[in-house]
Amino acid sequence: MHSPMFSLEVFPPKRNAPVDTIYDTLDGLEGLNPDFISVTYGHGTHSDRTATARIAHTISKEYGIPAVAHLTALYSDKAKIDEALDMFEQAGVSAVLALRGDYIDGERLVGDFNHASDLVSYIRSMKPDLTVFGACYPEGHYQSGSLDQDIENLKIKVDAGVTRLISQLFYDNEDFYRFLDKARAAGITVPIEAGIMPVRGAKSVRRMAERNASRIPDKLDALLNRWEDDIQSLRTAGILYASEQIADLVAHGVDGVHLYSMNHPATTRRIWRNVEPLFLGTQG
Ligand code: FAD
Repeated sequence: MHSPMFSLEVFPPKRNAPVDTIYDTLDGLEGLNPDFISVTYGHGTHSDRTATARIAHTISKEYGIPAVAHLTALYSDKAKIDEALDMFEQAGVSAVLALRGDYIDGERLVGDFNHASDLVSYIRSMKPDLTVFGACYPEGHYQSGSLDQDIENLKIKVDAGVTRLISQLFYDNEDFYRFLDKARAAGITVPIEAGIMPVRGAKSVRRMAERNASRIPDKLDALLNRWEDDIQSLRTAGILYASEQIADLVAHGVDGVHLYSMNHPATTRRIWRNVEPLFLGTQG
């Protein structure tokens, strides 16, 4: 049986927080030895475009873990993308996660890249040796007419040169399995990693689910209602919920699990402690 990948995501520290606070997160994750850590990319024209490269450099050079750099396209022209790719190359990234990004009210679109697939094609043409990952949506992207339509568009992105997909968060594994069946039936053969986001607050889960058009299954809804006013108990329940999701995904033979650490290493560690034996058990 193949061994599923286990990867993590971190984000550059928020505005006003020094970029060095990322060391607290990375120190807290030490010893977990994920297959890679990906670093998100600030979106829009006002974000610090160098933070992702600097953190990716730290992850790969100081912590010795393969780093994947996210890169968004909507508000960048080709020159800015070239600049970012050069920075990533110098940072020693092992792959770029090519994204479209979300529309931002009041920001002027550049027009060089309308879809993530445009960015994928561009990276492949400029840096043929660079590995390119893409995002996918088990419940369909919130702007797509239907899951089938979204998967048709996903196939275009993969055919442009994506070698691995990382999924949006989802709370019901059945949604992921349905998506997987449809993607495979559509001829998408690259590995697909399941994105898991641990519950840390009832409001944030509901907000995120609404924004991403993600379903909150009854079991999770009951848990949110039960522990809404007791944050510690909710977080403990969230760790168990995420651990159960991961255990079930591994039992179903998924290609990998991508844990959104949200820069909370203690939560990430507790989940990893619960599921680590399952990953070791699939090797060989
Ligand atoms: P696309 O693949 O372009 O898809 C977006 C929409 O366009 C979909 O509805 C799709 O069906 C449609 N579409 C795609 N191609 C075509 C086509 N050829 N013709 C017609 N329609 C098409 N955002 C950030 O700002 N920074 C990050 O670091 C970041 N990291 C992320 C990591 C992951 C794993 C995920 C799942 C999302 C991340 N996002 C991030 C959010 C992402 O930018 C948004 O979800 C965005 O709305 C879509 O990006 P995409 O790359 O999936 O877009």
